[in-house]
Amino acid sequence: MILLTRKAEFSAAHYYWNKKLTPEENERIFGKCSNRNGHGHNYTLEVTVAGEVDPVTGFVVDLKLLKDILEREVVSVYDHRHLNHEVPEFAETMPTTENVAIAIWKRLDGKIPNAKLHRVRVYEMADLFADFYGEF
Ligand SMILES: [Zn+2]
Repeated sequence: MILLTRKAEFSAAHYYWNKKLTPEENERIFGKCSNRNGHGHNYTLEVTVAGEVDPVTGFVVDLKLLKDILEREVVSVYDHRHLNHEVPEFAETMPTTENVAIAIWKRLDGKIPNAKLHRVRVYEMADLFADFYGEF
């Protein structure tokens, strides 16, 4: 078994606001991230798949196909969008780095032929990332 990682990038806006909390609690917990006009990030996504090397191609997965899957399932849905308002999974769930990683896992799981999704890593910025391995 070998691991292969492909990167993709997208830019998106978000804010943090939990409807179950009071406005004062939201502002205290989330600070400037609670501004409901939102703010943007340049996200970097790393998707790692696990599989066996095909003896004919030398690949675990078709790299063009993997790129196309990331584009179709994630980048085309998230890029230049307001995550809270335009991406269905964040209508009720706050688009934190952690939740974005989980959501991307759900979008990709089972969609990559001949390989198993191993890890989804999402960088919200260069010094902050979340890893999800598909287990709660
Ligand atoms: Zn943010």
